[in-house]
Amino acid sequence: MVPEPPDFTDDDLKKRIEAFKKVIQHITTQHGKYVRGQSKDVAGTMTCPLCGSDLRYRRAAYNGHHHAFCTKAGCLQIMQ
Ligand SMILES: [Zn+2]
Repeated sequence: MVPEPPDFTDDDLKKRIEAFKKVIQHITTQHGKYVRGQSKDVAGTMTCPLCGSDLRYRRAAYNGHHHAFCTKAGCLQIMQ
């Protein structure tokens, strides 16, 4: 039996989805809900929900898309 790569297991995926939700929630709490045409670019740092390192994020004013990445190599990365 061939072991699955660690970043493709169901458990890992679930953890990442949960972490993703936490990051979006944090951004919304800190900066308010995204409103097209009204929200400005936001950026900040929070604690990574997966590993506890610094996680940097931003939300684009023009479309509300989120970018986030953990400063620990190979940890959480979000583009949405
Ligand atoms: Zn992390």
